[in-house]
Amino acid sequence: MPSFVDNSRRRLLKKLAMGVALAPFAVSQLHPATAGDAPLVTPDDQTAKAFKYVADATKSAEARPGSRCGNCMLYQGAAGSIQGGCPLFTGKQVKAAGWCNSWTAKS
Ligand code: SF4
Repeated sequence: MPSFVDNSRRRLLKKLAMGVALAPFAVSQLHPATAGDAPLVTPDDQTAKAFKYVADATKSAEARPGSRCGNCMLYQGAAGSIQGGCPLFTGKQVKAAGWCNSWTAKS
């Protein structure tokens, strides 16, 4: 298997481990709503800051061109949705046009 796949998996696992470490922040912000009406992640969210989340990927100097939540492996929104869940942000939604430094291409 090509090494870029191994590196991608390694990066994803590392970032997921970081997400687990930040889970207390997410748990403290749990919302009883279902995913469909869960609130959007806000810029002042501690987890958002940790992962450098932005609601508009084009506003991030670090985002690879074309990368956004909507084409991230972790995005849980339906195809064509404008926002959806992400396991890094329990109880909240991210914008499909958003981005964070855990972005991993859908395989
Ligand atoms: S880029 Fe991926 S991991 Fe990051 S917030 Fe968006 S869906 Fe979640």
